[in-house]
Amino acid sequence: MAHSTEGYQFKKTVKFLKNLRGQGTELISIYIPPGYQIAEITNKLRDEAGQAMNIKSKRTKKNVSGAIERLLGALKGYRKPPENGLAVFAGDISGDPGGGKIELFLIEPPEPVGIQTYRCDSTFFTEPLEEMLEAKEWYGLMTVDRREATFALLKGKRVEILRSMGSRVPGKHRAGGQSHKRFERLIEEAAHNWFKKVGEYASKNFGEAKVKGVVVGGPGPTKNAFMNTDYLSEVVRRKVIGTVDTSYTDEFGITEMMQKSDEILKGMDIINEKGLVNRFIKEATVGKLAAYGEREVREALNNGQVETLLLSESITMKRVKYTCPQCGEEYEKTVKGAQGEKCPKCGADMGYEEEDIIEEMAELAGTVGTAVEMISTDTPEGEQFMNGFGGIGAILRYR
Ligand SMILES: [Zn+2]
Repeated sequence: MAHSTEGYQFKKTVKFLKNLRGQGTELISIYIPPGYQIAEITNKLRDEAGQAMNIKSKRTKKNVSGAIERLLGALKGYRKPPENGLAVFAGDISGDPGGGKIELFLIEPPEPVGIQTYRCDSTFFTEPLEEMLEAKEWYGLMTVDRREATFALLKGKRVEILRSMGSRVPGKHRAGGQSHKRFERLIEEAAHNWFKKVGEYASKNFGEAKVKGVVVGGPGPTKNAFMNTDYLSEVVRRKVIGTVDTSYTDEFGITEMMQKSDEILKGMDIINEKGLVNRFIKEATVGKLAAYGEREVREALNNGQVETLLLSESITMKRVKYTCPQCGEEYEKTVKGAQGEKCPKCGADMGYEEEDIIEEMAELAGTVGTAVEMISTDTPEGEQFMNGFGGIGAILRYR
């Protein structure tokens, strides 16, 4: 998956929230799924506000009540949850002994919120958002036999059922009066139409680039017969990474598949990353369509040459923008951490703003329509990318 700037910022926000601590059990997290009634949440919050009156610690009581008030205020702006629902966090994270410095964080997540929850704890409840971060790739799951087909997408740890459909293929028992041959022909025709319909749906939903692999399940040999014909588009057929025998073809069949697909799906994220890094290294060493090192990659990005920008998650460098408050002199630098500098023109103390270089380069990539891939250092390839190429690389469209 291309990691957009938005995705990176979301990741950063989640990490930030995860590390915050309250002094007591006073940080409130609420999750609202799409389509949920906001009024139900506000009623719940009012209940909680009533119960907060019983809290013994004066400071905690003040902070919990304050947080609930802020949450109620924030929800007033919504008649219904946004497309993917909402995650809202409120609490005093200042560490100030007096308390009452409530901060509010309102997040419209990149994927649908799957749970409705209210939590009050000494930390924010960020696990559902963290799970979204894990969903770097999607996998298409489908079960099929002559009677039924179910389609789902695996996004990280979450399985999203897309659709179940039933066929009109007649059973094995023919109606009285029909000739055996005619009956057989009717069945085959119905089966052909059914598989065509199933194939079209799969091709449409699993064809997109985000879907990295497809697993096909179902009882008996039907699924294999289905896959070996051209009911599936070539793009999707090439994505099939395995088949699984399941007893069912409904939603339970998908669940069954998940239980049996560990081996097939294991490490797919890693395999994708390895492929990408290997392609980059090959281009960098024997081919031509690669650039590495910050300066060269930056130049290639600005020229629109970059197909995919590869950034190692281990990069800690900052991009610092210096501005002179006196004469307006400006320049940028990549450093480990910003330090005060004197203006080279007038000698005044320069003002500066720093940003993670990952974020800065991802933003630059975004402005020129280049896909960004974050590379871990969990694989030997990822390590080589960081240590041998500085963690900043590009696969080029052309030289
Ligand atoms: Zn100056």
